Amino acid sequence: MKVDPSLLEATIRRVLAQLPVERTGDGVFADMDSAVAAAAAAEREYLTRSMADRRRYVAAIREVMLDPDNLDYMSVQAVQQTGMGDVGHKYLKNKAAAELTPGVEDLVTEAYSGDDGLTTVEYSAFGVIGAITPTTNPTETITCNSIGMLAAGNAVVFSPHPRARDLSLWQVQQINRALRAVGAPDNLVVTVAEPSIENTTAMIAHPAVRMIVATGGPGIVKTVLASGKKAIGAGAGNPPVVVDETADIDHAAKCIVDGASFDNNLPCTAEKEIVAVDAIADLLKFSMVKHGAYELSADESSRVERVILADGRPALEWVGKPAAAILEAIGVEPPAGVRLLVCEADRDHPFVVHELMMPVLGLVRVPDVDAAIDLACELEHGNRHTAIMHSRDVSNLTRMGKLIQTTVFVKNGPSFNGIGIGGEGYCTFTIAGPTGEGLTRARNFARSRRCVLVGDLNVR
Ligand code: NAD
Repeated sequence: MKVDPSLLEATIRRVLAQLPVERTGDGVFADMDSAVAAAAAAEREYLTRSMADRRRYVAAIREVMLDPDNLDYMSVQAVQQTGMGDVGHKYLKNKAAAELTPGVEDLVTEAYSGDDGLTTVEYSAFGVIGAITPTTNPTETITCNSIGMLAAGNAVVFSPHPRARDLSLWQVQQINRALRAVGAPDNLVVTVAEPSIENTTAMIAHPAVRMIVATGGPGIVKTVLASGKKAIGAGAGNPPVVVDETADIDHAAKCIVDGASFDNNLPCTAEKEIVAVDAIADLLKFSMVKHGAYELSADESSRVERVILADGRPALEWVGKPAAAILEAIGVEPPAGVRLLVCEADRDHPFVVHELMMPVLGLVRVPDVDAAIDLACELEHGNRHTAIMHSRDVSNLTRMGKLIQTTVFVKNGPSFNGIGIGGEGYCTFTIAGPTGEGLTRARNFARSRRCVLVGDLNVR
């Protein structure tokens, strides 16, 4: 029998990818001190490499993360290991992170020339960066942070969420192998075999770590901001979506169902509650049902509450679970294709005020657009993260944008358009509202340095 060599190779790669992760090697270290020391040595070696080398290294990360087998593996394993999210949507997120995260081209040099000579301002490496990554986008964040941080000349020590441990270790090893194959210094991207709060604390405190980037909830953002080091905090959101009476209601309904069900509502940018003007609220709900939502009755909503909340807060075991599973848990047969649950709720209902990260949205009815915008601002809790509005009135869109002051403001589209998936602009999975970098990219992981040549090289 003749064996197709490409089929054989693909099968071997798939089997190898599924073998248990080797606990150390290829960027994975037994303890934090060894990991940071290796990253520091790699960063010193990296200083000797050219910008063309950096471009090749970034290209190698993109290539390995875009390998179709690896995309499949990361998407399936992320759902299996964390128990959250949707495989198909994870695939899209991982692909966007590898393709659309800015690289070396983001580091644009500024120049001043005149009678006194030539001065340049360049983006230069911080050194070793400590990056803390979430369960909700485990691999996407490692991909996008690795590309941006290496593009800016740094080495990076990852501190992944323990629930995404095996997959994060596997990913760091894949990146190291890909970098070694194109001649990069070993250990530009490292982690520890047993990620834990203790290891993260040790990483933050390590003197060789010059910058900390935390992508996660309010606790870890607060911790890194108190570290005394340069820190970027990419924290929680509770994105409201406002729909006014001028909106294209059918389009708005489809966008809300698409955005709020994306990866089962895990993205920090996903629509988390709806504020609808009374005149169109019924039509909006009707249209959402047409596009794959299920409207909960008051009794069903109370039953869902008892399942997905624990002490009034989102129950961890229900974060990122599909809408159909939630319906089954309250004894309702899920209609075919159901993606999102929606129910009318008061403005202080837990489905409205909390970042559930589940495909369950409260809809608050308000008399007019001004009341809608004011309530949306309140529900965003000053996170300055993300907001969405559906309206064809430019003044209403402008008023909301000015008042809500979020880092991402999506108009007339699903929330994921705001991170480059189906919308213009680059991609990132580290959105820094609290510290103001916004949608982070290579230049945010760099220091600004001035080089002054006195008296010469002004050729005008
Ligand atoms: P999380 O805060 O539980 O964990 C995030 C990371 O911080 C993990 O690696 C975790 O191990 C670590 N961590 C948490 N508390 C710590 C502590 N006290 N000491 C040391 N390490 C600690 O968040 P999660 O559940 O993994 O992710 C979801 C949260 O992250 C949501 O609030 C979401 O909005 C937010 N998020 C924000 C962004 C953004 O770009 N702004 C992106 C993704 C997720």
